Amino acid sequence: MSRLVIVSNRVADLKTGTQSGGLAVALADALKERGGIWFGWDGADDGVTGAAPQVETIGNVVRIAAPLSAEDLANYYLGYANSVLWPMFHYRLDLVDYRPEFSESYWRVNETFARQLNGFLRPDDIVWIHDYHLIPLASCLRTMGCKQKIGFFLHIPFPPSDLFSAAPEHTRLVEALLQFDLIGFQTQTDVNNLKHYLTESTGAVQHGDNEFVVDGRSVLIDRFPIGIDAASFAEMATDSNDEVEMDLMRLKVLGRRQIIGVDRLDYSKGLPERFKAFGRLVEQHPELSKKVSFLQVASPTREAVDAYADIRTELETLAGSINGKFADFNWTPLRYINRAVAREILAPLFRGSQVGFVTPLRDGMNLVAKEYIAAQRPNDPGVLVLSQFAGAAEELTEALIVNPYDIDEMARQLHRALVMPLEERRERHSALRRKVFQDDARSWLNNFMAVLEQAGGGSNDEPAR
Ligand code: ADP
Repeated sequence: MSRLVIVSNRVADLKTGTQSGGLAVALADALKERGGIWFGWDGADDGVTGAAPQVETIGNVVRIAAPLSAEDLANYYLGYANSVLWPMFHYRLDLVDYRPEFSESYWRVNETFARQLNGFLRPDDIVWIHDYHLIPLASCLRTMGCKQKIGFFLHIPFPPSDLFSAAPEHTRLVEALLQFDLIGFQTQTDVNNLKHYLTESTGAVQHGDNEFVVDGRSVLIDRFPIGIDAASFAEMATDSNDEVEMDLMRLKVLGRRQIIGVDRLDYSKGLPERFKAFGRLVEQHPELSKKVSFLQVASPTREAVDAYADIRTELETLAGSINGKFADFNWTPLRYINRAVAREILAPLFRGSQVGFVTPLRDGMNLVAKEYIAAQRPNDPGVLVLSQFAGAAEELTEALIVNPYDIDEMARQLHRALVMPLEERRERHSALRRKVFQDDARSWLNNFMAVLEQAGGGSNDEPAR
């Protein structure tokens, strides 16, 4: 079996196993099985770009942690990746902050990473590159003579062709993308968006459903919806945690139900709209006074980017005004926590909350939706209210699907979730649970790898480097 080489923006911590979430664990497990490399940025903000990376061998896995300078972090990571590509790929042209120095740093950092990685590659390695930070990496490696199979998975959405064409460097980005052998997306919508762009704007020729041929190279494009490690999240939800249990018991004694939202504090998550929908619910249903509360956990992220500071201020104002209007001495309708909460706490909180409220304006997948389902009690489950614009909505069709721009509709569906009869809750949940457990992180990884191993027609006429 070929070695696997994983490249992600930030290299995982393979020793302590503290990487959060099922994805990093699934990837780390696959690496241990096949042997290979995990390459990425070392996470420090005071390095020298291009300086020798830290190389550590852990069993049959080589961990390569590359340094970046503060300037490149500002320009490549916060700049091009998170102030150009992130808003653009989340359909937010209005928030794109394109600057030449961002672009210069992005392409140069990718070139540097490629050079550093190249020295470690073997001819029959299979390379799997993750996410929007690293779109140019395959093209840089190809320029250096690499003939290995290289796959790419985009964890975030891919925008419609018209919108993508507004990106200052769309041609360059797509030319770079076409150097991969397999391009994986979360949803069929994303797949269709790229296919449409390729057909309209490039000379790539489509063969069958999923293959495009460009300059004699074959590129596969397909959908691989990402999953979670459902079994271990479900188990975590049942582990007792004194503080969570006491809080949930208090809610029970008060006959109060809880709606929960958990996100990074990102403008793509639709948080202001969500707050307003909850405000509308309690306004329109006075009988719910003191009988429902909304717990929103939102951890700060990318705070150096203006758009993130703006959304934070907006949310603080909204939370204050909703509580100011409806709270009583013994009821805080909206509890807003502005920091990360440990997974061991989140899982039982999901289990003890009657509604999971997940309403991004646009999201690649949204793992919180799947975690909420995995955490529920099958015999008395809560209800997932899910945005139609989360990638997860393509699969989780038994959730209450809402338009996150429609505040009244969200308030109506929240109410429907709160009064839903047990039988309907069970029916919906059992269908959702089956999907979340079946299509988990491991099966996502196996599916992607199986297609990548078969990919790469037309590029193997010369011996691998
Ligand atoms: P994104 O990747 O855009 O942040 P996802 O929903 O796909 O969104 O994944 C988020 C992951 O991070 C989930 O595993 C979720 O449990 C975790 N997470 C999100 N917000 C928080 C938070 N405030 N505290 C702790 N974990 C969080």
